[in-house]
Amino acid sequence: MITYLRHRDQLAPASFLVLALMIFSCMWLLAQNASAVAVNIDGQTQFLASSVQEVQEALQQLEAEQEAQANTDLKLSNEVEYQNVFALSGRVLPSDQISVKLAQCVRFEAAAATIVINGKAVASLVDQSQAQQLVERFKTEYGKLAEGENLIQLDFEEQVEIIEDSVPLEQICTPEQAYDLIATGTLNPEKYVVQEGDNLWLIARRNDTYVDDIKQANHLTSELLSLGQELIVVKSKPLLTAVAKVEGSKLEAIPFETQVVVDPSAAATVRVREPGQDGERKITYQAIKKNGVVAERTITSEEIIKNPVARVLVKGNQVVQVASRGSTGISKGVLDWPVYGPISQYYRSGHPAIDITGKVGTALQASGSGYVVEAGWNGGYGRTIVIDHGNGYSTRYAHCNSLSVSVGQKVSRGQTIATLGSTGRSTGPHCHYEVLYNGSAVNPLSVLK
Ligand SMILES: [Zn+2]
Repeated sequence: MITYLRHRDQLAPASFLVLALMIFSCMWLLAQNASAVAVNIDGQTQFLASSVQEVQEALQQLEAEQEAQANTDLKLSNEVEYQNVFALSGRVLPSDQISVKLAQCVRFEAAAATIVINGKAVASLVDQSQAQQLVERFKTEYGKLAEGENLIQLDFEEQVEIIEDSVPLEQICTPEQAYDLIATGTLNPEKYVVQEGDNLWLIARRNDTYVDDIKQANHLTSELLSLGQELIVVKSKPLLTAVAKVEGSKLEAIPFETQVVVDPSAAATVRVREPGQDGERKITYQAIKKNGVVAERTITSEEIIKNPVARVLVKGNQVVQVASRGSTGISKGVLDWPVYGPISQYYRSGHPAIDITGKVGTALQASGSGYVVEAGWNGGYGRTIVIDHGNGYSTRYAHCNSLSVSVGQKVSRGQTIATLGSTGRSTGPHCHYEVLYNGSAVNPLSVLK
């Protein structure tokens, strides 16, 4: 009993102290707490604010700002809920920080018109008419006609739809962005700034792409570039294919053939008996063009205006020694480079030559001694020289700017025969250099010094 009392005497003051402390803490906590709202965005509490009104006002302001920027109507794409809570006032987000916080966790969506190609959403624009115009613009630009052509039909190869949509604001493209995207297949194509000495062809080579692709992606009609001009250089493939069925008529050259007559009694020279002349014909045709490139052509009628006259060369049977025969028939180091410069195209299937780049007007030298068997315009080759070195070897120098030798002339190794240019079907100044053995191309790099 005594023990109990003693205990009780000691216990009482301690209990009161604890109780008093608890009450005091509660009162203190209550004083620190305030009624607040938890802002739940898409089911997750993002922050606490002091009032719903404050958050709604910030949201409205944010929407108005982004609408002004986008120049279109927006709607919030998140679900925002408010929940009344008691919270330590230190945890409530100050009013001036609410918009910043909201900007991080909400998204606005805009009504949009989305271009769908073969079932895949490709680009969204602000409205139906903008999307429609863009598709039409692509069709007209990529379905362009050549002179003397009439359009029979113009369609897309792909299935194209424009759908009403609602997308996040940042997904909406300007017509220019959408056009680039469709034309190049990428939204942020790499840009190249034209520098002094550049030409399309060099730019294409350096960026591992093609001149035609650069021209198409940049809607270029000529190959003239200006300093500082920005070019899209991505290896591009348009997402759409404008298929134009056309009908046309045009005058076309009929190329002449070259006949070589060997005269054993003649000296080791090449003589022109007949220079040859292109013929001419008028054709009417139907063609299918895909993004401007002829994919199929049927000639529906042909009228020969002038028959071609074959070129006849007479060649003596004595030959000039060009190389001692190795296992491949010709050995490395027997031919001199016609010009030194960066190689922009190597020998490969479809390109039986190397393309050596340089400035227009640079001298081109004969790779070896021999006789000029061709000197003049040759279709896509432009101004061209062919030298017969004997033993079945000849070299061709195409796209020349000017020629300084003529057919039948004897030339020696290193002699200037022409200047570098970009004539014929060329995309920039270069020498298209071929080495032929019995009329078949061999890789120039295997025989050049
Ligand atoms: Zn070439």
